Amino acid sequence: MKKNNCRDFEERIKMMVEAGYTTVGREIIKCTRCPLHKNAIRRVIGKGSCNPKVFFMGEAPGKSENETGIPFYGRAGKELDKMVEYMGLSEEDWFVTNTVKCRPPENRNPRVNEIECCKPFLAAQITLLNPKIIILLGNTAEKAYCPERKLDWGIPVEHEGRTILKLYHPAALIYTSSRKEIQRAFIDKNRNLWS
Ligand code: SF4
Repeated sequence: MKKNNCRDFEERIKMMVEAGYTTVGREIIKCTRCPLHKNAIRRVIGKGSCNPKVFFMGEAPGKSENETGIPFYGRAGKELDKMVEYMGLSEEDWFVTNTVKCRPPENRNPRVNEIECCKPFLAAQITLLNPKIIILLGNTAEKAYCPERKLDWGIPVEHEGRTILKLYHPAALIYTSSRKEIQRAFIDKNRNLWS
C-alpha cells in the first residue's frame, strides 16, 4: 500500500466528483493504491442506475466478477436479483458495488488497509449518485462504511446524512433458507425507506 499522499488522494477524489462519474471510473481502472490491483483481471466498478434510491454495498469481487467486471455476477447475483424484486425496486431504483474494486486473492476478505485505500472511490460514488438509502450487505460492508458503529441487522439508522440499513449478503442466503425468511421480514419492516 502506498502510505504517502493520502491528503492528495482525497483532493483528487474531490476533483473527480466535480468532474463526474465517468472520471471516477477511469481513476479506478488505473488505480494501484493497494496490492489488490496485482490480482485484478477487471476492475469491478459497479452497476445500476445513475440516480438510485438504493445503493447496495457488497464485500469484494469474486472470481466471476473479476473475469467479467460486473458486480454480483453468478449465484449471489441471482439471489440479489430476487431480493431486489421482493423489495419492489425497478432498474432505475438501485445501484450496486463493493467495498473494494479489485478481487482479493483466494477469495479472502478484503483487509482493513485495502478497504481504507479504496474507500475514497466508494465515497465519490455515493456523493455522485446521492442515494436515499445505503444497504450494507453483510459485516464487511458495515466495517468499511461505518467502522465506528455496530449496527443491528434490519434496523435502519441515520449516518452522515443518509439512512443505512444492514441486511444479509445474498451469498449468505444461498444455503440457509431460514435466513431468507428473516431477510424478507427485514425488508417488509423497512419498505417505507425506499417506497
Ligand atoms: S482495490 Fe481499490 S484501492 Fe486497491 S488497487 Fe483496486 S481500485 Fe485501487
